[in-house]
Amino acid sequence: FKLFDDNNDDLISIEEIRLFYQNYTSEFKIFRDQQHQKEVIDIFLKEFFPINDDAIQQRELNFDGFYKILQRNPNALQSLYLISVPDQDREEENELMWYQRFWSYIINNANRLVFLGIYILITIGLIIYVSLYRIYIVKNNTVWQIIAHVSGTLVNYNYAVAVTLMLKQIMSVLRRIHSLSLIIPIDDHIDAHRLVGTALFVSAIVHSLGHCINFATHTEVNSWSQSMFTTAAGIGWVAHSATITGDILFLLLLIMFICSLQFIRQRTGFYLLFQYTHYLFWPMFILLIIHAPSFWKWAIGPTTLLFFEKLYLLKRYLPKHGRTKLKSVRIENDNILTLVIERPQRFKFRTGNYINICFPKIAKMEWHPFTISSSPKRQDIRISIMKKKNWTKKVYDYFYGCLTKRAYLTAITIDGADNHSNDNLRNILLSKEITFLANDPDADIWIEGPFSTCTSHVFNSEHVVLIGAGIGVTPSISALDSLTQRVQNHRCVCVSCNANSYNYTQISKQQPKKVDFFWINREIETFSCFRDILEEIENAQENYLNIMAATRNNSTEP
Ligand SMILES: Cc1cc2nc3c(=O)[nH]c(=O)nc-3n(C[C@H](O)[C@H](O)[C@H](O)COP(=O)(O)OP(=O)(O)OC[C@H]3O[C@@H](n4cnc5c(N)ncnc54)[C@H](O)[C@@H]3O)c2cc1C
Repeated sequence: FKLFDDNNDDLISIEEIRLFYQNYTSEFKIFRDQQHQKEVIDIFLKEFFPINDDAIQQRELNFDGFYKILQRNPNALQSLYLISVPDQDREEENELMWYQRFWSYIINNANRLVFLGIYILITIGLIIYVSLYRIYIVKNNTVWQIIAHVSGTLVNYNYAVAVTLMLKQIMSVLRRIHSLSLIIPIDDHIDAHRLVGTALFVSAIVHSLGHCINFATHTEVNSWSQSMFTTAAGIGWVAHSATITGDILFLLLLIMFICSLQFIRQRTGFYLLFQYTHYLFWPMFILLIIHAPSFWKWAIGPTTLLFFEKLYLLKRYLPKHGRTKLKSVRIENDNILTLVIERPQRFKFRTGNYINICFPKIAKMEWHPFTISSSPKRQDIRISIMKKKNWTKKVYDYFYGCLTKRAYLTAITIDGADNHSNDNLRNILLSKEITFLANDPDADIWIEGPFSTCTSHVFNSEHVVLIGAGIGVTPSISALDSLTQRVQNHRCVCVSCNANSYNYTQISKQQPKKVDFFWINREIETFSCFRDILEEIENAQENYLNIMAATRNNSTEP
């Protein structure tokens, strides 16, 4: 209404709507033809200003009239979805001078830049230190040997950083310490891992090239190939094997690097290739210990921590931690499933955490990450899965099959074997929900985690803006659900009048004070996915506001 009401007089006129649609349609090529544009606008106008029985067209609408038309007329409502609003903020932003934009970039990314700066400074420090050490202390090194040693040290350094960045349990702990999470850019740890991994690969290439060229230019006794592919060069602290382990390491690293590139990692059906080639990390660790005498000093700390993290995650196979059952599965639409999982006794999670799940009946070795969309205060774990092309499709088809099977079995039990086309069958299929009994073999599910994400920051800010697209809304739903549960926890009964009330003093101490929630979807049907949770949140909010208004009106302290 505000968009149409150009002169802000709380009335919208034919002229205002015409002007609005003229501006709007002029953005589209198909409306270049003025006549065509006019015809389309007239259709819109008729929706809002219908001609009555006396052939008189109303010329103005107030908000109530506008609202009634939209309620009555789904076409008019549909046409409003198509409207895009000019991005005024962006226009203002464009007016900033380059140095102002640069400065705001620095301010917004200060902690990232500091950490990047520290990483670069250490790299430069190592380059200088190893070069000087090789030139003045070891002496007699060729330029290519110095290059090989400098880059070898950088391989060690980048290895230690890359492994540290993937210590997910430690990252979760750091995230929980608010003061640290403000300083350390924890949410960037995977991006940083990619950057450092690339630096490691480049260092390894330079290291190998250094040795290759050195063998080609400075070896008189052995041929180049002998030096490169046998122990003839006599390098290495374990049986002179540095050249052979170096060759194998280079090959493994090359495979790992190529399979980690985005075009493989994010390609449908290729994720497992990325995942399995990353397991080459363990043989590489052993080979690196044999290959380079000082590697263990860099690697021992991060690798030990990683090893213990992996060991700790094995609890996923224990019934109290990860081996659990599904309570129900709902088929939301052609693409989305919602799973309600029984929470294992010792499984604790926080808002916005994600878990890896495995259906042993579908694929015993495949684990996939999904965000928990329910609040930690709830008894169950709820996740929503969008069907992609491989594992998720198998899961969707599997539960669709379960639903159909159950519908038929129920129909047989209730109405006799020969009658499948009855109401019971249809009702079960229409409800699209499967409820599992405690020992149902179809209900087996294993969960691993939880792992934290940036959503955990929502309770540290005064004003939170949650933005989700498609199924990516799950962390926001979890945050909204948690916020509602928190307010609900402060419900109380007034001692003087026995009325329902809230502990406003406690609520006012809580963060955040305000939440904006945006959810963008390609298809309008997707909005129905979290309908029950969103309705619950909306009702809780309305209830809270009503009670607050009543309390204020009665001006009695709760
Ligand atoms: C932290 C996190 C939380 C997520 N939360 C949700 C959620 O709440 N709901 C939801 O529907 N989806 C979520 N996803 C995405 C979901 O994990 C993938 O869509 C799913 O694993 C795809 O499996 P697939 O075999 O059908 O994929 P494919 O059809 O083979 O590929 C589709 C895409 O999924 C990626 N992918 C495949 N397997 C994995 C994997 N094991 N880990 C990460 N990415 C993978 C591929 O790179 C590709 O880009 C989340 C992903 C992450 C990383």
